[in-house]
Amino acid sequence: MAITLPDRYFARVTRISVREDLVEAGFTHALIDMDNTLLSRETHDVPRDVKQWLGQVRAAGVQVCLLSNNWHQTPYRIAGELDLPVVAKACKPLPHSFIVARGKVGARSASTVVIGDQIATDVVGAHMLGMKAYLVCPLAEKDVMSTALMRDFERMVLGERLPEGLCSAECAADASCAPSACEGGQA
Ligand SMILES: [Mg+2]
Repeated sequence: MAITLPDRYFARVTRISVREDLVEAGFTHALIDMDNTLLSRETHDVPRDVKQWLGQVRAAGVQVCLLSNNWHQTPYRIAGELDLPVVAKACKPLPHSFIVARGKVGARSASTVVIGDQIATDVVGAHMLGMKAYLVCPLAEKDVMSTALMRDFERMVLGERLPEGLCSAECAADASCAPSACEGGQA
């Protein structure tokens, strides 16, 4: 598989089935991006359904470490609120921070999945170290400029591929429907 192609692609982080896509897929650890994966860039909070999903992940015995390129205090604040270990200022996709995060939770590459909303940072970084990568649609359309510029590249890489877990066939057929709007509904 090309280094840029995600192993799976989901409409929202909560559309990743804890049982089927994590536990039964053999993942004991998850390194999860923060901005627009768990934390909305628009509302600056972690949506309630995302918090519930994280609780289910941990209850299932999957250990989580936040892995963020954010250079501010936010990753530490969010990690405190969610009671999770964190590696910030990560410079993804460079391998160093992935290795540090993996070590923090005692993970091995073969049983670790990286979850994030960007190909160039989360997916490429995971694949460089032999880890699987689950790409998710960003929680909000709003993004920092550097990320917004990468979205065209991501659309090119993904081509016609649709995310799993869109709320309806209508949503899948409507190019203007932001998957982030599928909040709360069941796939
Ligand atoms: Mg992100």
